[in-house]
Amino acid sequence: MSLLLIGAFSAQEYAHWRERLALSLPSETLYLPDEVYDPACIDIALVANPPAGSLAGLDNLVLIQSLWAGVDRLLSDPTLPENVPIVRLVDPNLTQAMTECALACVLALHRQFPAYARQQTGREWKQLPQPIARERRIGILGLGELGRAVAQALACLDFDVAGWSTGARQVEGLECWSGASGLASLLQRTDILINLLPLTPHTAGILNAQLFARLPRGAAIVNLARGGHLNEKDLLEALARGQLSHAILDVFSEEPLPCQHPFWSHPRISVLPHVAAVTDVSTAAKIAAENIKAFRAGSMPAPLVDRAKGY
Ligand code: NAP
Repeated sequence: MSLLLIGAFSAQEYAHWRERLALSLPSETLYLPDEVYDPACIDIALVANPPAGSLAGLDNLVLIQSLWAGVDRLLSDPTLPENVPIVRLVDPNLTQAMTECALACVLALHRQFPAYARQQTGREWKQLPQPIARERRIGILGLGELGRAVAQALACLDFDVAGWSTGARQVEGLECWSGASGLASLLQRTDILINLLPLTPHTAGILNAQLFARLPRGAAIVNLARGGHLNEKDLLEALARGQLSHAILDVFSEEPLPCQHPFWSHPRISVLPHVAAVTDVSTAAKIAAENIKAFRAGSMPAPLVDRAKGY
Protein backbone atom coordinates (compact mmCIF):
# COMPACT_ATOMS: atom_id res chain seq x y z
CA MET A 1 0.00 0.00 0.00
CA SER A 2 1.07 3.62 -0.56
CA LEU A 3 0.85 7.14 0.79
CA LEU A 4 -0.79 10.19 -0.80
CA LEU A 5 0.44 13.69 0.10
CA ILE A 6 -2.14 16.36 -0.61
CA GLY A 7 -2.43 19.96 0.51
CA ALA A 8 -2.59 23.61 -0.40
CA PHE A 9 1.06 23.46 -1.48
CA SER A 10 3.09 25.04 -4.28
CA ALA A 11 5.25 22.71 -6.44
CA GLN A 12 8.27 23.77 -4.38
CA GLU A 13 6.50 22.97 -1.10
CA TYR A 14 5.41 19.56 -2.44
CA ALA A 15 9.03 18.81 -3.34
CA HIS A 16 10.22 19.87 0.13
CA TRP A 17 7.64 17.68 1.91
CA ARG A 18 8.42 14.71 -0.35
CA GLU A 19 12.15 15.05 0.31
CA ARG A 20 11.70 15.25 4.10
CA LEU A 21 9.15 12.41 4.24
CA ALA A 22 11.32 10.16 2.04
CA LEU A 23 14.23 10.61 4.49
CA SER A 24 12.18 9.15 7.36
CA LEU A 25 10.08 6.70 5.33
CA PRO A 26 12.50 5.25 2.76
CA SER A 27 10.51 2.05 2.21
CA GLU A 28 7.14 3.79 1.58
CA THR A 29 5.86 4.84 -1.86
CA LEU A 30 4.52 8.40 -1.76
CA TYR A 31 2.33 9.90 -4.48
CA LEU A 32 1.42 13.51 -5.15
CA PRO A 33 -2.08 14.37 -6.46
CA ASP A 34 -0.98 15.10 -10.05
CA GLU A 35 0.85 11.78 -10.42
CA VAL A 36 -0.61 8.59 -11.88
CA TYR A 37 -1.61 6.15 -9.14
CA ASP A 38 -4.29 3.56 -8.46
CA PRO A 39 -6.64 5.06 -5.78
CA ALA A 40 -7.10 1.51 -4.42
CA CYS A 41 -3.42 1.36 -3.43
CA ILE A 42 -3.60 4.44 -1.15
CA ASP A 43 -4.14 3.52 2.49
CA ILE A 44 -2.69 6.60 4.26
CA ALA A 45 -3.22 10.26 3.31
CA LEU A 46 -1.00 13.07 4.58
CA VAL A 47 -3.01 16.27 4.32
CA ALA A 48 -2.74 20.02 4.86
CA ASN A 49 -5.93 21.88 3.92
CA PRO A 50 -6.58 19.63 0.90
CA PRO A 51 -9.17 20.91 -1.60
CA ALA A 52 -12.66 19.53 -0.80
CA GLY A 53 -13.25 16.17 -2.47
CA SER A 54 -9.54 15.24 -2.53
CA LEU A 55 -9.98 12.12 -0.43
CA ALA A 56 -13.23 10.92 -2.00
CA GLY A 57 -12.82 7.62 -3.85
CA LEU A 58 -9.89 6.42 -1.73
CA ASP A 59 -11.80 3.29 -0.71
CA ASN A 60 -8.90 1.62 1.11
CA LEU A 61 -7.96 4.62 3.24
CA VAL A 62 -7.29 3.59 6.86
CA LEU A 63 -5.53 6.68 8.26
CA ILE A 64 -5.45 10.43 7.67
CA GLN A 65 -2.44 12.28 9.10
CA SER A 66 -2.99 16.03 9.24
CA LEU A 67 0.17 18.10 8.73
CA TRP A 68 -1.51 21.07 10.39
CA ALA A 69 -2.64 21.53 14.00
CA GLY A 70 -6.09 22.87 12.99
CA VAL A 71 -8.47 20.50 11.18
CA ASP A 72 -11.51 22.78 10.70
CA ARG A 73 -11.13 23.03 6.88
CA LEU A 74 -10.59 19.26 6.59
CA LEU A 75 -13.69 18.44 8.66
CA SER A 76 -15.83 20.87 6.65
CA ASP A 77 -15.36 18.67 3.52
CA PRO A 78 -18.68 16.77 3.13
CA THR A 79 -16.91 14.08 1.07
CA LEU A 80 -14.33 13.31 3.79
CA PRO A 81 -14.34 9.48 4.12
CA GLU A 82 -16.27 8.47 7.23
CA ASN A 83 -14.83 6.31 10.01
CA VAL A 84 -11.21 6.85 8.97
CA PRO A 85 -9.19 8.01 12.00
CA ILE A 86 -7.61 11.48 11.66
CA VAL A 87 -4.39 12.21 13.53
CA ARG A 88 -3.60 15.85 14.32
CA LEU A 89 -0.10 17.29 14.15
CA VAL A 90 1.43 17.99 17.54
CA ASP A 91 4.93 19.34 17.07
CA PRO A 92 7.02 20.85 19.91
CA ASN A 93 8.48 23.34 17.39
CA LEU A 94 4.97 24.55 16.49
CA THR A 95 4.09 24.86 20.18
CA GLN A 96 7.30 26.83 20.80
CA ALA A 97 6.54 29.13 17.85
CA MET A 98 2.99 29.78 19.11
CA THR A 99 4.30 30.43 22.62
CA GLU A 100 6.84 32.96 21.31
CA CYS A 101 4.15 34.76 19.30
CA ALA A 102 1.69 34.89 22.21
CA LEU A 103 4.43 36.19 24.55
CA ALA A 104 5.38 38.88 22.00
CA CYS A 105 1.74 39.99 21.69
CA VAL A 106 1.12 40.06 25.44
CA LEU A 107 4.38 41.88 26.24
CA ALA A 108 3.70 44.47 23.49
CA LEU A 109 0.20 45.12 24.87
CA HIS A 110 1.32 44.98 28.51
CA ARG A 111 4.09 47.53 27.85
CA GLN A 112 1.70 49.67 25.73
CA PHE A 113 3.74 49.51 22.51
CA PRO A 114 0.67 50.03 20.26
CA ALA A 115 -0.31 53.12 22.31
CA TYR A 116 3.25 54.52 22.06
CA ALA A 117 3.23 53.85 18.28
CA ARG A 118 0.03 55.92 18.03
CA GLN A 119 1.62 58.68 20.16
CA GLN A 120 4.69 58.62 17.91
CA THR A 121 2.62 59.54 14.85
CA GLY A 122 1.71 62.80 16.68
CA ARG A 123 5.25 63.27 18.17
CA GLU A 124 3.62 63.03 21.58
CA TRP A 125 5.96 62.40 24.56
CA LYS A 126 3.69 60.97 27.26
CA GLN A 127 4.46 58.25 29.79
CA LEU A 128 1.52 55.92 30.38
CA PRO A 129 0.81 54.05 33.64
CA GLN A 130 2.83 50.82 33.73
CA PRO A 131 1.61 48.02 36.00
CA ILE A 132 3.91 45.03 36.49
CA ALA A 133 3.11 41.57 35.13
CA ARG A 134 1.43 40.22 38.24
CA GLU A 135 -1.09 43.08 38.03
CA ARG A 136 -2.01 42.21 34.41
CA ARG A 137 -4.76 39.59 34.01
CA ILE A 138 -4.48 37.34 30.98
CA GLY A 139 -7.35 35.07 29.85
CA ILE A 140 -6.78 32.20 27.44
CA LEU A 141 -9.62 30.62 25.46
CA GLY A 142 -8.57 26.98 24.86
CA LEU A 143 -6.25 24.97 27.08
CA GLY A 144 -5.12 22.40 24.52
CA GLU A 145 -1.61 21.72 23.22
CA LEU A 146 -1.04 25.37 22.38
CA GLY A 147 -3.17 27.16 25.00
CA ARG A 148 -1.56 25.25 27.89
CA ALA A 149 1.99 26.01 26.72
CA VAL A 150 1.17 29.71 26.24
CA ALA A 151 -0.54 29.88 29.65
CA GLN A 152 2.40 28.30 31.45
CA ALA A 153 4.96 30.54 29.73
CA LEU A 154 2.96 33.64 30.73
CA ALA A 155 2.57 32.35 34.31
CA CYS A 156 6.38 31.92 34.44
CA LEU A 157 6.69 35.65 33.64
CA ASP A 158 4.41 36.29 36.67
CA PHE A 159 1.30 37.34 34.71
CA ASP A 160 -2.02 36.58 36.41
CA VAL A 161 -3.25 33.86 34.01
CA ALA A 162 -6.57 32.04 33.72
CA GLY A 163 -7.80 29.67 31.01
CA TRP A 164 -11.03 28.22 29.64
CA SER A 165 -11.73 24.80 28.12
CA THR A 166 -14.66 22.47 27.49
CA GLY A 167 -13.88 20.06 30.28
CA ALA A 168 -12.59 20.99 33.74
CA ARG A 169 -8.77 21.16 33.62
CA GLN A 170 -6.01 21.57 36.16
CA VAL A 171 -2.93 23.37 34.90
CA GLU A 172 -0.20 24.36 37.32
CA GLY A 173 0.13 28.10 37.86
CA LEU A 174 -3.25 29.15 36.50
CA GLU A 175 -6.90 29.37 37.33
CA CYS A 176 -8.94 27.08 35.03
CA TRP A 177 -12.56 27.59 34.06
CA SER A 178 -15.01 25.63 31.91
CA GLY A 179 -18.60 25.91 30.69
CA ALA A 180 -20.75 29.01 30.13
CA SER A 181 -20.48 30.30 33.71
CA GLY A 182 -16.73 29.67 33.61
CA LEU A 183 -16.45 31.82 30.49
CA ALA A 184 -18.27 34.70 32.22
CA SER A 185 -15.91 34.43 35.22
CA LEU A 186 -12.84 34.35 32.98
CA LEU A 187 -13.92 37.35 30.91
CA GLN A 188 -14.74 39.64 33.82
CA ARG A 189 -11.18 39.29 35.18
CA THR A 190 -9.32 39.55 31.85
CA ASP A 191 -7.28 42.53 30.60
CA ILE A 192 -5.75 40.70 27.62
CA LEU A 193 -7.73 37.86 26.01
CA ILE A 194 -5.90 35.31 23.81
CA ASN A 195 -7.94 33.02 21.57
CA LEU A 196 -6.48 29.53 21.03
CA LEU A 197 -9.71 27.60 20.46
CA PRO A 198 -10.25 25.26 17.52
CA LEU A 199 -12.84 26.50 15.00
CA THR A 200 -15.97 24.38 15.50
CA PRO A 201 -19.72 25.02 15.22
CA HIS A 202 -19.62 25.88 18.98
CA THR A 203 -16.75 28.36 18.76
CA ALA A 204 -17.42 30.06 15.38
CA GLY A 205 -18.03 33.78 15.94
CA ILE A 206 -17.28 33.53 19.69
CA LEU A 207 -15.30 36.79 19.61
CA ASN A 208 -18.40 38.96 19.26
CA ALA A 209 -20.12 41.99 20.82
CA GLN A 210 -21.62 39.92 23.64
CA LEU A 211 -18.21 38.56 24.65
CA PHE A 212 -16.47 41.96 24.32
CA ALA A 213 -19.13 43.52 26.59
CA ARG A 214 -18.23 41.06 29.36
CA LEU A 215 -14.56 42.10 29.37
CA PRO A 216 -13.47 45.06 31.52
CA ARG A 217 -13.61 48.31 29.52
CA GLY A 218 -10.35 48.88 27.65
CA ALA A 219 -9.34 45.19 27.43
CA ALA A 220 -7.32 43.95 24.44
CA ILE A 221 -7.77 40.81 22.36
CA VAL A 222 -5.27 38.59 20.54
CA ASN A 223 -6.67 36.15 17.96
CA LEU A 224 -4.11 33.48 17.06
CA ALA A 225 -6.57 30.68 16.20
CA ARG A 226 -8.90 31.17 13.20
CA GLY A 227 -10.54 34.14 11.46
CA GLY A 228 -13.93 32.44 11.77
CA HIS A 229 -13.85 33.00 15.54
CA LEU A 230 -14.10 36.77 15.12
CA ASN A 231 -17.11 38.92 14.24
CA GLU A 232 -15.22 41.67 12.41
CA LYS A 233 -18.03 44.24 12.52
CA ASP A 234 -18.45 43.76 16.30
CA LEU A 235 -14.69 44.25 16.77
CA LEU A 236 -14.70 47.54 14.87
CA GLU A 237 -17.66 48.78 16.94
CA ALA A 238 -16.08 47.70 20.25
CA LEU A 239 -12.84 49.53 19.33
CA ALA A 240 -14.78 52.65 18.26
CA ARG A 241 -16.65 52.71 21.60
CA GLY A 242 -13.49 52.14 23.64
CA GLN A 243 -14.82 48.87 25.04
CA LEU A 244 -11.69 47.32 23.53
CA SER A 245 -8.38 49.23 23.40
CA HIS A 246 -6.52 47.12 20.82
CA ALA A 247 -6.63 43.87 18.82
CA ILE A 248 -3.72 41.82 17.50
CA LEU A 249 -4.96 39.52 14.74
CA ASP A 250 -2.99 36.74 13.04
CA VAL A 251 -5.91 35.06 11.28
CA PHE A 252 -8.79 36.35 9.16
CA SER A 253 -12.00 35.09 7.61
CA GLU A 254 -10.44 35.85 4.21
CA GLU A 255 -6.70 35.24 3.75
CA PRO A 256 -4.71 37.01 2.45
CA LEU A 257 -6.53 39.95 4.05
CA PRO A 258 -7.95 41.95 1.08
CA CYS A 259 -6.11 45.23 0.34
CA GLN A 260 -9.21 47.38 0.92
CA HIS A 261 -10.03 45.77 4.29
CA PRO A 262 -10.46 48.36 7.11
CA PHE A 263 -8.20 46.37 9.47
CA TRP A 264 -5.08 47.30 7.46
CA SER A 265 -5.21 50.99 8.37
CA HIS A 266 -6.95 50.81 11.76
CA PRO A 267 -4.78 52.48 14.44
CA ARG A 268 -5.99 50.02 17.08
CA ILE A 269 -5.54 46.81 15.09
CA SER A 270 -2.20 45.05 14.49
CA VAL A 271 -2.25 42.69 11.50
CA LEU A 272 -0.01 39.62 11.25
CA PRO A 273 -0.12 37.51 8.05
CA HIS A 274 -0.98 34.12 9.69
CA VAL A 275 2.52 33.57 11.04
CA ALA A 276 1.91 32.76 14.72
CA ALA A 277 2.99 29.12 14.28
CA VAL A 278 3.84 27.98 10.79
CA THR A 279 4.37 24.24 10.29
CA ASP A 280 8.10 23.40 10.25
CA VAL A 281 8.41 20.90 7.38
CA SER A 282 11.52 19.18 8.79
CA THR A 283 10.12 18.46 12.24
CA ALA A 284 6.53 17.89 11.09
CA ALA A 285 7.62 15.37 8.43
CA LYS A 286 9.58 13.44 11.08
CA ILE A 287 6.60 13.38 13.46
CA ALA A 288 4.19 12.32 10.69
CA ALA A 289 6.65 9.60 9.63
CA GLU A 290 6.94 8.28 13.21
CA ASN A 291 3.13 8.17 13.41
CA ILE A 292 2.95 6.21 10.16
CA LYS A 293 5.63 3.76 11.33
CA ALA A 294 3.74 3.26 14.61
CA PHE A 295 0.50 2.68 12.69
CA ARG A 296 2.17 0.15 10.36
CA ALA A 297 3.51 -1.59 13.49
CA GLY A 298 -0.01 -1.93 14.87
CA SER A 299 -0.52 1.02 17.25
CA MET A 300 -2.81 4.00 16.75
CA PRO A 301 -0.99 7.38 16.83
CA ALA A 302 -2.29 10.33 18.86
CA PRO A 303 -3.93 12.74 19.22
CA LEU A 304 -6.95 11.57 17.26
CA VAL A 305 -9.50 14.11 16.09
CA ASP A 306 -12.93 13.67 17.64
CA ARG A 307 -15.16 14.32 14.63
CA ALA A 308 -18.26 14.82 16.79
CA LYS A 309 -16.52 17.58 18.78
CA GLY A 310 -14.94 19.04 15.66
CA TYR A 311 -11.33 19.11 16.95
P1 NAP B 1 -6.35 21.41 20.94
O1 NAP B 1 -5.17 20.72 21.56
O2 NAP B 1 -7.37 20.59 20.25
O3 NAP B 1 -7.04 22.26 22.12
C1 NAP B 1 -8.26 22.89 21.95
C2 NAP B 1 -8.69 23.49 23.30
O4 NAP B 1 -9.89 24.24 23.09
C3 NAP B 1 -9.00 22.43 24.36
O5 NAP B 1 -8.59 22.88 25.63
C4 NAP B 1 -10.53 22.34 24.31
O6 NAP B 1 -11.14 21.94 25.53
C5 NAP B 1 -10.88 23.79 24.04
N1 NAP B 1 -12.21 23.91 23.44
C6 NAP B 1 -12.66 23.39 22.27
N2 NAP B 1 -13.96 23.72 22.08
C7 NAP B 1 -14.33 24.46 23.16
C8 NAP B 1 -15.55 25.08 23.57
N3 NAP B 1 -16.66 25.02 22.81
N4 NAP B 1 -15.57 25.72 24.76
C9 NAP B 1 -14.47 25.77 25.54
N5 NAP B 1 -13.27 25.21 25.23
C10 NAP B 1 -13.21 24.57 24.05
O7 NAP B 1 -5.88 22.52 19.89
P2 NAP B 1 -4.43 23.24 19.79
O8 NAP B 1 -3.44 22.31 19.19
O9 NAP B 1 -4.12 23.88 21.10
O10 NAP B 1 -4.75 24.33 18.66
C11 NAP B 1 -5.75 25.32 18.84
C12 NAP B 1 -6.00 26.05 17.53
O11 NAP B 1 -4.92 26.91 17.22
C13 NAP B 1 -6.11 25.15 16.29
O12 NAP B 1 -7.37 24.54 16.18
C14 NAP B 1 -5.83 26.12 15.17
O13 NAP B 1 -7.06 26.68 14.73
C15 NAP B 1 -5.02 27.24 15.84
N6 NAP B 1 -3.66 27.33 15.25
C16 NAP B 1 -3.28 28.52 14.70
C17 NAP B 1 -2.01 28.65 14.16
C18 NAP B 1 -1.54 29.97 13.61
O14 NAP B 1 -0.46 30.03 12.99
N7 NAP B 1 -2.25 31.06 13.81
C19 NAP B 1 -1.13 27.56 14.18
C20 NAP B 1 -1.55 26.37 14.74
C21 NAP B 1 -2.83 26.26 15.28
P3 NAP B 1 -10.84 20.48 26.18
O15 NAP B 1 -9.42 20.58 26.69
O16 NAP B 1 -11.81 20.37 27.29
O17 NAP B 1 -11.02 19.50 25.07
